[in-house]
Amino acid sequence: LIPVLTIDGPSGSGKGTLAQRIAKTLGWHYLDSGALYRVLAQAALQKDLDLNSEKALADLALTLPVWFSVAEDGLRVWLDALDVSDIIRSEQVGNAASKVAALASVRQALLQRQRDFRQLPGLVTDGRDMGTVVFPDATYKVYLTASAEVRAERRHKQLKEKGIDSNLADLIVEITERDERDQRRQIAPLKAAEDALVLDSTQLGADAVFKQISAFIS
Ligand code: C5P
Repeated sequence: LIPVLTIDGPSGSGKGTLAQRIAKTLGWHYLDSGALYRVLAQAALQKDLDLNSEKALADLALTLPVWFSVAEDGLRVWLDALDVSDIIRSEQVGNAASKVAALASVRQALLQRQRDFRQLPGLVTDGRDMGTVVFPDATYKVYLTASAEVRAERRHKQLKEKGIDSNLADLIVEITERDERDQRRQIAPLKAAEDALVLDSTQLGADAVFKQISAFIS
């Protein structure tokens, strides 16, 4: 069986940065599952689709021309020939992503596509349901969390680095709302898998988290 490390958690917990760092260290593949929902939301916004029309969104998800490439500054995400790496990180797209992600047939449409990333020598993936639904038989499962304030601060800093302006107080509200929607939804709600290592990074720097997880998987 091809090894998989899943890292789930709420938005801004640092799972993306951590997952990419571990994937690079191990030489494993990396799947940013949230990017799939974000690109779908971006495509739907571009097409002016109603974010509640489940059938249209699921059809779009099945044929969505989303690609990933690795650049020096990290992951690049493509919608067809368009580099959408930056635009999909906005809170507007994040919120739209969390709406389309609550639709059962959208999740079903993206399921196999995510599983196809499981290739040798291994996969590191981050999201909300990687350890619970997409890769329930994963070799290692981590659930990474932190307080909403700390997560909003990190997101604020990340956005600033990308040249995107944001307001910290607004971010706290948006992040909390998105977490609640992700936790309360019927299908694949955000939660730690029973067999996951739960890590709270509120008081921990990125290096300390990296060390703990490296120890966990070695
Ligand atoms: O992780 P990220 O913030 O990019 O995810 C955006 C949204 O996509 C989340 O708020 C969540 O609603 C949805 N998502 C999901 N399942 C995943 C990854 C993301 O429902 N595995």
